This record gives sequence, structure tokens and C-alpha cells, in this order.
Amino acid sequence: MTQRLEPLPTDWRRALAVVAHPDDLEYGTAAAVAAWTDGGREVAYLLASRGEAGIDTLPPEECAPVREREQRAGAAVVGVRTVEFLDHRDGVIEYGLDLRRDIAAAIRRHRPELVVTLNHRDTWGQTAWNTPDHRAVGRAALDAVADAGNRWIFPELLRQGLQPWHGVRWTAVAGSDRPTHAVDATAGFERSVRSLLEHRTYIEALTAEDPERYCRTLLTDLAQSASERFGGRPAVTFEVLAH
Ligand SMILES: [Zn+2]
Repeated sequence: MTQRLEPLPTDWRRALAVVAHPDDLEYGTAAAVAAWTDGGREVAYLLASRGEAGIDTLPPEECAPVREREQRAGAAVVGVRTVEFLDHRDGVIEYGLDLRRDIAAAIRRHRPELVVTLNHRDTWGQTAWNTPDHRAVGRAALDAVADAGNRWIFPELLRQGLQPWHGVRWTAVAGSDRPTHAVDATAGFERSVRSLLEHRTYIEALTAEDPERYCRTLLTDLAQSASERFGGRPAVTFEVLAH
């Protein structure tokens, strides 16, 4: 795949990032988020779960508050103050009407022009199997863009005072193996490392490697992997769907 990546559009004010777990946005996307908030844009995070099934040694009821705290800290590093949790159950998030409705409601509340989500396809890079949570949340986020604009699909949202929002212009899927666009990761890179490093409890359970070295190596490799398609610059890549 050698097709050149286009710069992601910048003529927008508000984005909503919708992912399954704490840390999903810190594995690369946060460098783009830092660039966006530097430019005065508002970015809010919506997490379907609290990532409570993510640490083998911590039972979910102890894990959830730790991961929520780490997620809020990671978001703050890149200028994101609004972090919301839908409390779907980590590991068994189901694609379906409940998830679509919850995400559509959030889109109506936040009124973003850009929706960001994570790889909804079966695999990463065509070789590594994706998780059911990522697939479910990615697909539901893509579907919820249309749901948010249609008053008849979830009429209960109207009764909650949430008027249809037709203003989403793009959905940008991070981690896709079919990227079309990119954001320069240079300015946000150091903050993206600190942002991932905020998930310290998770990372220390994941690897015996020094946490900072783990974060820096992983994010450097990721940002460099698409640079040849983006004028030699380190890049955060997205598959962009226009609406
Ligand atoms: Zn995840």
C-alpha cells in the first residue's frame, strides 16, 4: 500500500472520539488529539466501558476506578477535559441497538463535526485478529452518525430533549489497515507518550519492560510506519468516511 495519505481536514471545531476501552486512544491517536486541541478545537472522549476486564491481576470492581482515573489523566495530557463512560461491560460489549442509541445520544449532546473511532474491521494490518469490543464499538459509532441525524430512529432521545444532529461531516477510523488521511504527529508526539504512560497500572501488568521505554518505542514505530506515505513526517493515520 503506497498511496499517499491526505492531510485530515482541519475546518471543524468539535470532535467526539468513541472507543471501547481506556487506552484505545492513547495507542497513537492522542498525538493527533494534541495537535487538534493546540489549534483551539474541542475534543471529547466517549468510552463504551471502563476497561475493567483489562488487568488479569485486578478484579473488575477494583480495576474500573483505576482505569477510569488513568484515562482521565491520559486525556488531560492532550487537552481533553470531557471523558464520559457508557458502562457497557468490558470484553462482552455487544453491537446492537443499545450501543447505537447510547452513541447517538452522545453525538446529539456534543454536536461534533468529526467523529473519531477505532478500527472496526476484523483484523489489524490484515494479520492480527481484532477484539469483539473494538469491532462492536467501531461499527456502532459509524452507524450512530446517521442515527443521530434521524429523529425517527430513536424517538426516546427526542423525549430526553436531544434534537437530531446532522452536523457530522466525517468519521475518522484510527488503526485501520486502509488509511486515507493522516495528521502530523510531530507536535503532539511527546504528549502522546506521556498520555499512554498515564495508563501505568495497565502497562505494568502488560509488560516487564520499562513503561516509558515501552510507550516511546511503540509510539515511535507506529508514527514512523506511515511516514513514507506522508512526506516523511511521523503520522497518525485514519480511514476517513465523509457523510
Ligand atoms: Zn481496546
